[in-house]
Amino acid sequence: MTRQTIISCELFPPKNASGMQKMQSAVAQLQIRHPAYFSCTYGAGGSTRDNTFTTVDWLLSQSIEVAPHLTCIANNQVDALSILRRYQEQGIRRIVALRGDRPADSLPAVHELTHADELVNLIRTHFADHFDIEVAAYPEMHPESAHLVEELDHFERKVAAGADGAITQYFYSVAAYTHFLEACARRRITVPIVPGIMPIVNYASLQRFSARCGAELPRWLCRQLDSYGDDQASIRAFGADFVAQFCNRLLAEGAPGLHFYTLNQAEPTLAVWDRLVA
Ligand code: FAD
Repeated sequence: MTRQTIISCELFPPKNASGMQKMQSAVAQLQIRHPAYFSCTYGAGGSTRDNTFTTVDWLLSQSIEVAPHLTCIANNQVDALSILRRYQEQGIRRIVALRGDRPADSLPAVHELTHADELVNLIRTHFADHFDIEVAAYPEMHPESAHLVEELDHFERKVAAGADGAITQYFYSVAAYTHFLEACARRRITVPIVPGIMPIVNYASLQRFSARCGAELPRWLCRQLDSYGDDQASIRAFGADFVAQFCNRLLAEGAPGLHFYTLNQAEPTLAVWDRLVA
């Protein structure tokens, strides 16, 4: 790991007081390692925008650098702009700009922004360079993309609209990442593309989550995790070793940093972080 390696941590907004307490305790433990910033999801898993505001406000009250996520599918332009103004007034300088997932039965609303590049464009038009903008990237392709060329075309569009960097969907294949980086380099896409890292904690929820977002779990990894049955301690121990080794390989291949999907728990992320090569 070089001095410049940027490590960030993602949180989701808790829905109740006990969830908030758990998240606050996780943040306190993670803060000891000085992550560059914490990001906070928006609208994912049925959470409301008020949950996101509450989490963002708490992080700011602790003088912690925060990058709120903002999805455009859940907001029309007027709403998106008012949220961005709120963040600007709070002194926030980094936004993770996303499309979000549309419920299967809903139709586009008037003034809706239909893709993330339009949100990036909106931010740049109204806020110039105030915000650093991170967008999503998919080394294993977004489930709606037909092929890698289409994936790259759309990713390139987000960068052309003004994204400063990207965070990837999680994945467990070094080859998928290096192939994606090489394809970006051929298109002269030079923004940092930080791998999103999902620590392995609970195999059943990892399978569910991966099926939903299109992340591939390698067959050998599934067989290994299957072999532990209900032995959660072994799953966690193996997961920490495997994910740390994976991160070290990504960093050796030129990853500019790591973005941990913490799921509001400190231990699984720290177990990986502690194993990174200094
Ligand atoms: P886009 O970049 O708009 O891409 C979506 C799909 O449309 C892709 O297949 C793309 O190839 C295609 N596409 C893109 N532009 C166009 C275009 N102009 N015309 C036609 N097709 C196009 N979800 C949440 O709800 N809340 C969160 O906080 C959240 N945080 C996330 C953080 C990260 C780091 C990642 C990787 C994902 C996150 N997600 C979140 C999930 C994300 O919202 C979904 O993956 C969503 O389906 C796509 O969002 P996007 O910003 O990548 O969309």
